[in-house]
Amino acid sequence: DKPAESHAFEADVARLLHMMVHSVYSDRDVFLRELISNAADACEKLRYEAIETPSLLGSAPDARITITLDEENGQLRVEDNGIGMSHDEMIEALGTIARSGTRAFMERVEANKAGEGSQLIGQFGVGFYSCFMVSDRVDVVSRRAGANEAWLWSSDGKGSFEVKGLDPADAPARGTRITLHLMDDARTYTSRWTVEKIVKEQSGHVPVAIGMIDKPGGEPKQITDGTAIWTKAKSEISKDDYTDFYRGLSGQYDEPAITVHYRAEGRHEYTTLAYVPGSQPLDVFDADRKGRMKLYAKRVFITDEAEVLPRYLRFVRGLVDTADLPLNVSREMIQDSPIFAAIRKGVANRVISAIEKFSEDDAEGFKTFWVNFGAILKEGIYEDFERRSQLLAISRFRTTASGEEHRSLTDYVKEAKESQNAIYYLAGGSHDQLKASPHLEGFRARGIEVLLLEDSIDSFWVMNAPDFEGKTFKSVTQGSADLSQFAKVDGMDQAEIEAPADTKAFIEFAKEKLTDHVEDVRLSDRLTESAVCLVATEGGYDLQMEKILQGAGR
Ligand code: ADP
Ligand code: MG
Repeated sequence: DKPAESHAFEADVARLLHMMVHSVYSDRDVFLRELISNAADACEKLRYEAIETPSLLGSAPDARITITLDEENGQLRVEDNGIGMSHDEMIEALGTIARSGTRAFMERVEANKAGEGSQLIGQFGVGFYSCFMVSDRVDVVSRRAGANEAWLWSSDGKGSFEVKGLDPADAPARGTRITLHLMDDARTYTSRWTVEKIVKEQSGHVPVAIGMIDKPGGEPKQITDGTAIWTKAKSEISKDDYTDFYRGLSGQYDEPAITVHYRAEGRHEYTTLAYVPGSQPLDVFDADRKGRMKLYAKRVFITDEAEVLPRYLRFVRGLVDTADLPLNVSREMIQDSPIFAAIRKGVANRVISAIEKFSEDDAEGFKTFWVNFGAILKEGIYEDFERRSQLLAISRFRTTASGEEHRSLTDYVKEAKESQNAIYYLAGGSHDQLKASPHLEGFRARGIEVLLLEDSIDSFWVMNAPDFEGKTFKSVTQGSADLSQFAKVDGMDQAEIEAPADTKAFIEFAKEKLTDHVEDVRLSDRLTESAVCLVATEGGYDLQMEKILQGAGR
């Protein structure tokens, strides 16, 4: 027998485990979903590796997950015949390398009242450790597919874990077997009825069949069939099915706002199932986080790192499954493949059309969508030349006329003054700062609506935005605002006082004093109450953009 090695958990992992036991949970059932999701990932990884090395599958090619209950001994076991882990993989994955989400997860849990934690586990990739919410001790036996050695990892979750070699005869032929020694207050997870219900609810659409053995030595009974939901006809899928699958995929517990499911036929064949979440995922502003859209080839999971959708749709969760990419396409080749390029284009078009349709059909729902994702979607106006007009039309804005509501540009144009050929905007700063800007005075006095652009991306897209319904975008901080052609709104007229005779002299004086600092000093229609304001030159950047460029060292 080989001696056991003892390893300390990485510091963040140790803290995380402490938190799992003491504060995270309101809903402990999620540990089962996490273990099943890891088991299914392991089966998908094996399927992928077996494309190149078919011998890895041996005599048992079918993926399966088996849950075994042992009420008498208070144990629950989750076993898969997936890729398994080598000695080193096990030590890294289960304790010595903190995952990138670990710290973010803990900060989030600490910042919030307890209870939310169990809902966050799936979103941060800290799933395995959740089994310590219900276990005094966890044993993991694993054997990498094709390897002739097996290893046992064991821990009580309190600072360290042990790893030792096992006689392969005592281990599964391949894959991983996780045995939980349940805490006294978690014995309900040996009840057949409880576990079956949880598995069906949480993991009913995992694309690997799940069986259950309800006592040691019993026969497995299949509880889910592992059919990939996206391969079914839409008419066979209920709203609940879609929602369950979405929750498994995203690790979120909300309802999806938009579900896009279709099969493309013709030049390229692929199926997409994509969701716009009903609430904001926690990582949505982390532009580097991968894994939002999965790519399958003929139901074999290939990668979740391919850029299936443009960056500005990074809030979308889902998958694409295609028959057109060869199974043995290397992950590196995908990004350059013309077939993949065509699929990307098709999927993005469908997702954007679905968002567009949602804006027409469900005004209330779209408001929420916009608050959650508008700032991200607007990046597309800047980045995606081909679709920028379409994205502009979907976009909503707060304006000097909208109060707290958001309005579309179509509404803006409809109510613009007859001779107004620009869409006026003010960019940079919070909504309250924008509203208080002196630059707006003259526009308000004449009842001209101004877009209040509060997101940082706004200053960028407005610079190269195309005309919208024949009107160009124009910053109110830039150039001479020739507002004299627009009549002032009733009651505002008394504000119009003839410029005193000595104004001219004053302007000359100011010009001379400020000669090194400003290009011009002039009388303006822009103001009604404030005495002066700074404006940018006609041809250059607007004030906000100048600030940004100065900040960037230009
Ligand atoms: P994530 O699933 O987001 O990677 P987890 O904490 O759930 O995070 O799992 C950590 C890692 O442990 C996995 O990425 C994988 O490398 C390994 N692992 C966990 N369970 C299994 C399993 N059943 N088979 C193979 N590897 C596993
Ligand atoms: Mg996991």
